[in-house]
Amino acid sequence: MTEREEQDCADFPGGKAANAASLSGKPLGIYIHIPFCARKCAYCDFLSAPATEETMRLYADSLKREMREAAEILRQEYVVSTVFFGGGTPSILPESVLSGILEELFCLMPVKTDAEITVECNPGTLTETKLKAYRASGVNRLSIGLQSADNRELQLLGRIHTFEEFAENYELARETGFQNLNVDLMSALPGQTREGWMETLYKVTELEPEHISAYSLIIEEGTPFYEKYKEGGPGYAALPDEDTDRLMYEDTKKILEARGYQRYEISNYARPGFACRHNLSYWERTAYKGFGLGAASLLGNRRYRNGDSLSEYLAGNFSYDSVTVLSRKEELEETMFLGLRKMEGVSLTEQMEQLYGELIVKLCRQGVLERQNSRIFLTDRGIDVSNRVLSEFLLDEEI
Ligand code: SF4
Repeated sequence: MTEREEQDCADFPGGKAANAASLSGKPLGIYIHIPFCARKCAYCDFLSAPATEETMRLYADSLKREMREAAEILRQEYVVSTVFFGGGTPSILPESVLSGILEELFCLMPVKTDAEITVECNPGTLTETKLKAYRASGVNRLSIGLQSADNRELQLLGRIHTFEEFAENYELARETGFQNLNVDLMSALPGQTREGWMETLYKVTELEPEHISAYSLIIEEGTPFYEKYKEGGPGYAALPDEDTDRLMYEDTKKILEARGYQRYEISNYARPGFACRHNLSYWERTAYKGFGLGAASLLGNRRYRNGDSLSEYLAGNFSYDSVTVLSRKEELEETMFLGLRKMEGVSLTEQMEQLYGELIVKLCRQGVLERQNSRIFLTDRGIDVSNRVLSEFLLDEEI
């Protein structure tokens, strides 16, 4: 249950519908990008940078304007079922600024009473006041970026916090009443051993978060980490080799499943009932609308991407960088390679049977795919080589 309060939405036509229990309309996920961080992490190539409080406030004003422009059309067709503040570090915003954005959304759009509302947070940026303000504004899920329980690894990654600071923030979140917490972790770090990774998993599961995301580090070109890593240097030990990386993935599954977490997507685990509904909408291709710098949207058969110039955005220019109209073939391909990321896989339609029948038989024979009635899903072996398997679902011809 959230502590969302009734908003005074008198000036906004969508507002009266907000908080109503029985709303009709197609479900819509809302993504709100906050491109600010206390400091840039060494491995990060996301759209984020440090900024002054003044810039953050101006950015929030632009976000509200962008939402107002879009809401008129959106509310005719959709009801908001999830909201996700991502970044960057959304928790770096002063609490009144984040609450203000959410209040505006509630006034503009019908939002389900049980909507999942997530804020991505970085340890070291949370305070009791902030957490209470989040609760009061309806936030009911926090996604905390820990990455590692080893302070040496955190330092290597250029993170702003220690494990102890994370644990303090985590406890504070519990004390403030948050009952749905995700912890982000990262494996395959330079110099990391299997034992070190397992230690991180043990330490984190002792805290019993409802959800854990566990990805491998990808060293992106153009990041300071890439440059330093290329040159070598103090602390930049070798990356775990491919076999160790795979074993770490297996360790993750083993340890997390033994502690009550179900893997529901290649890199995501949750206690029963706590799968991230917002992220599921990406893999299931239900509609979502992104607001803010570089934010992506999927509405019907169109994918949109916002521009990524902060000065343009602050000046109120919300034009898209790209609009892609997906063909039926592209939609089907996406359904397959996004849907197969989920452990429950994809239910085959007649058309999928026709187009992919032979491929499915071949992949089942190879042991990378399994079929149960009309449902197909990746096997453990298939997950190990998922990029290769998923790419096989690209079609040669239009349909
Ligand atoms: S906190 Fe996240 S978004 Fe910000 S710099 Fe670090 S990795 Fe990038």
